[in-house]
Parts: sequence; C-alpha cells; structure tokens
Amino acid sequence: MYRTHDCNSLRKSDIGKDATLAGWVHVSRDHGGVIFIDLRDREGLTQVVFRPEENAQLAKQAHGLRSEDVIQVSGKVAPRVSGTENPKLATGDIELIPAQLRILNRVDDLPFPIDAEIQNEDLRLTFRYYDLRRPELSRNLRIRHRAAKATRDFLDSQGYLEIETPILSKSIPEGARDFLVPSRLMPGKFYALPQAPQQYKQLLQVAGVEKYFQIAKCFRDEDLRADRQPEFTQIDIEASFVEPDDIFRLTEGMLAAVFKATRNVDIKTPFDRMTYREAVGRFGSDKPDRRFGMELVDFSEEFRSSSFKVFRGAIDNDGVVKAINAKGFAGITIGQVDELTEIAKTFGAKGLAFIKIENGEWKSPIVKFFNESEKAALKSKLKIEEGDCVFFAADKWDVACEVLGRIRRRVAEIQDLIAKRQSGSDWDFLWVYDFPLLLWSAEENKWNAMHHPFTRPKGEDVALLDDKKKFPEIRAEAYDVVLNGVEIGGGSIRIHERPLQDKMFEVLGISPQDRQSMFGHLLRALRLGAPPHGGIAMGFDRLVMLLCGEDSIREVMAFPKNNRGMDLMSQSPADVDPRQLRELGIKLAKEKSS
Ligand code: ASP
Repeated sequence: MYRTHDCNSLRKSDIGKDATLAGWVHVSRDHGGVIFIDLRDREGLTQVVFRPEENAQLAKQAHGLRSEDVIQVSGKVAPRVSGTENPKLATGDIELIPAQLRILNRVDDLPFPIDAEIQNEDLRLTFRYYDLRRPELSRNLRIRHRAAKATRDFLDSQGYLEIETPILSKSIPEGARDFLVPSRLMPGKFYALPQAPQQYKQLLQVAGVEKYFQIAKCFRDEDLRADRQPEFTQIDIEASFVEPDDIFRLTEGMLAAVFKATRNVDIKTPFDRMTYREAVGRFGSDKPDRRFGMELVDFSEEFRSSSFKVFRGAIDNDGVVKAINAKGFAGITIGQVDELTEIAKTFGAKGLAFIKIENGEWKSPIVKFFNESEKAALKSKLKIEEGDCVFFAADKWDVACEVLGRIRRRVAEIQDLIAKRQSGSDWDFLWVYDFPLLLWSAEENKWNAMHHPFTRPKGEDVALLDDKKKFPEIRAEAYDVVLNGVEIGGGSIRIHERPLQDKMFEVLGISPQDRQSMFGHLLRALRLGAPPHGGIAMGFDRLVMLLCGEDSIREVMAFPKNNRGMDLMSQSPADVDPRQLRELGIKLAKEKSS
C-alpha cells in the first residue's frame, strides 16, 4: 500500500498514530540540519520533519531531496512544536516524524518552480503535465469535473438522455471554417469535424428522442482569442414540443445546480429577460454587462433640429444620437482619448466627440453649437455633474450603439468598475431574446442567418420573409444566456416544417441543388414527422472559466492549444510521414524547403 492517508487529512486527533504518505516534495528547508519537507499530493500539504538526533541516516537521505522528487514516508504523527503551528494549513497542527523514507522517483532539472507566477504561457504549455500540478490548475480541473457532473445529474433528473454524435461528420459551409479529415477509403473525399452537433441533435428529435443532451466536443477553425480554442466543449441540449420558456426554465435549473455544486452559491432564478433591441439600445451590446451603469441615452429627439450639423446630419440620415456619461472621468488623459477614438473608428464611427465637465465648465469644441435646451436635456437625462465625461455617437442605430457599447466597456476597465473576482452575490444572469433572424453581409453581398439557418422566425414575422426590405426587422425565436457580460450560451426554436426551411434557404441564397447536397438528409427528415423542437448550447469552457474566476479558457482546459492553435507539449500540428499522405491520395501544394 502506497499510503494510509492523503496529505490533507492528518489532524490533532491523529497524534500518536502511524501514517504513510506519498507525494511530491513541495519545498524542502534545512534549519540547522533539521530538514522540513512540505509533502504535497492533490489534496494538500503535510509537514514531514527529519531530525538528525532522531534518525541520522534518514536525515542524511532527506538532505538530498529536491522539489518535486516523488517520495513515500512512514512514521508517527506528532504535534508541532508549540508556537510553530500553521493555522493557514488544514494539517498545520501536526507533522509527520518519519521512520522510513522511500524515494519513488527523482526529478531532473525543473522547467520552472511550481509555486512561481509564470508569465511565459508558452513555457507552461510546453510542460503542461507539470504545470497542471499547480494547485490553482488542479482546483480548476476539479471545478470543471463538478460542473460536468452537476450538469449530467440535473439533466438526467429532467429525463434527458446523453447521446453521443459523430466526430467524423460532414462539412457545411455555414458559420466558421471546418477542420477537414481526408478519407483513405474514399480518396478525395473528406469528413469534417463538427462545429456543433446541430443537425444531429435536431435529427434526434425526428427520431423521437424528445430530450437529448451531450457534453460535446466542437471544432471550429477560427482565429483564436482568450476565450476561444479550436476545440472546445459545449453542453448541448435539444428537446421536442418546447417553447423558449421551457428552455429558459431548464437552463436556469441546470445553472443553479452547477453553481450550487461548484461554488455553493444559490443563484437567483428566473433570470431577467431583455430583448435584443433593448440590450443593444441601452448597453451597446447583445451581451450587456450590467454590473455597472453608464447606460446609453438617446438624444435623437432633442437634436432633431440642432444647429450642430454632425448630429442633425446623422438623424436626417435615419440615424441616432446617443451618449454615455462616464462619471468622474473628466481627468481622461490624451493617451486615453487616442485609445478610445481608435476604438470608435474601428467600430465604424468617424471620430469620438466628448465633453469634460471641469471647474463648472463644459469643455469641448462642440459645446458652442448646443443651445440651452439641448444642454438642459443632456444635463438632466445624463445626470451630469462636476468631474464627468460625456461621450457621443451620431450614426446609424447599430453603429452608434456598438461604438458607445465598446467605449462603455473600455472606460469601465480603465476605471476598474468591475471587481475582478466575482463574489457570490455578483453573478448577473440575463436572457437576451428576439434576436434578428438575418444579418446583411456587405462582404458577401447577401443575407446570412444571424444564429444558423435552422432558427425559426417569430410567428408574427414569418410573412416578412417575402419582402426583402423588411428583412432587418424579422425577429428570430433565438436567445442567449449572458453572465456578467459574457455570452455563455445560445439557442433557438427550430424550423420543423419543410416549406419554411426551404424558404429560409432561399432567403439565404442557397440554391435547390446545394440544399439537396448539403442538407438533403435534414430536409427529408422534416417531411417524416418532425416534431416542433428547439434547444440551446452552453459554452462549457467559458462557464467553467467564470466559475473559477479565470480570464482565459486555457486555464480551465487540461491540454489547451496556444493562441496560434498549437499544442506546444506534443508539437502538434506536425509533419506527417509522406507514406501517410500517399495513402490518403494527398499531395502538398508546396513541398517544405528543408
Ligand atoms: N448549435 C448552436 C451553436 O453551437 C446552438 C444551438 O442552436 O443550440 O451555437
């Protein structure tokens, strides 16, 4: 037997007992010949003390131990010398006085000290199996496990079946780029890795499964960010005979179970709900962070006949004038002005107008164009006070909202309005619903589905599918769940009738031939008694990231890729043997130069 206890279990009440522990040498200290070792396993630390006067040979052996050596020690549990107890450690009252030391494995040179804050993430990822020993990461893996287990238990209790769907599936030119897998048995043909099990989960409803879920791996060949990875995990859910309310209630129950199991927090349900128009109009984002104010206020009425041409021009052009008040931000630096102006330009504005309120004066070159009633309106609706800074956007509704939404978020960061680690009461959940069905792509010169092509238009808006001019107004039965300004999930009620699905494909400019070759199976299925159905998918990594108080999903995945999509530990992607390529009938367009 390697051990009788783990390194976090011995207490005062065990004093005098024999115990055997096994683990890693966390730190080793030599105090005048006495060797103190903090022995670590995944549960915690126990102090082991080698005193030369008690066992000279053992102390000598212990002297040669280095951090991360793997050892086994057997001995007696003893009280710590009075005054040296460590109240911060669960085992801080006791120590182990060993009678035996077995070295199970010695370490080489360490890539970095395990208890150091390592900034070089590439180094950490190269030695990920070692990095994962760090207590924070080990804690994250546990939280992830508990979140997955609570999800499964909850969905099981609601009658949901966990069903696996294929990883080798079919390429669909919608959404992100696919990862392709060449077929050896059918040279020239390719599988695609699923971006999500979307069609399978719908087909499972046609199959009469009624309640499906899966903690599913998804693959998207996208540019990476802190909260994106080429492969990631979703809690994928689909059910028959449901309306948005059913999905909302189910998701709320599931999240409540997950938060209870992982953080012992009782989250408030039901969550608030907000339409897409309201979320974007008030917060400049379809995933509003409501933990701070600075809401967007509309001044289109007030400036409709303004002598300030920039504002009036925007309104005459069917646009809007909106503003936010950054409280206490009048001390904005030139560098910050430049940065915020850059953000405004990136998101479509021509510039960024603002007013600083300093020493009782409104400081800005645009103030001279405002009349008294315009100023009074600004003052009262924005609650302007000394020390504030007001930012404006005058543009089309979506541009003005997005620009101010970005400025709002950045100013909140600069002012540190959001406490970094959430406390129990600081979980702000929100449903955003009634998303637009369609999105115009100037690049492709066509309408695309905002969510995906299987999303159902709202009943009262279906007729608008016949009038191109009305496309921007069509709302979808689509919803997102947002937590603290992060979209953690989204879904929709689906189209279950063949004629409506055909109509949707037509609107999206997918020809009848393409429809057959890409979606033939789904279209056939819709004619074989498809029930009304809908679902949702939650970004499991993002959810766990928030549960762990981390800023990056890489911190909650065991073996993530770096931001160039590389697995630095195994050096993947990698070259393959030319024989493998020959078997697949693949020739590289460009042979490697070396
Ligand atoms: N499959 C969708 C996604 O991954 C979610 C859903 O509609 O259920 O975004």
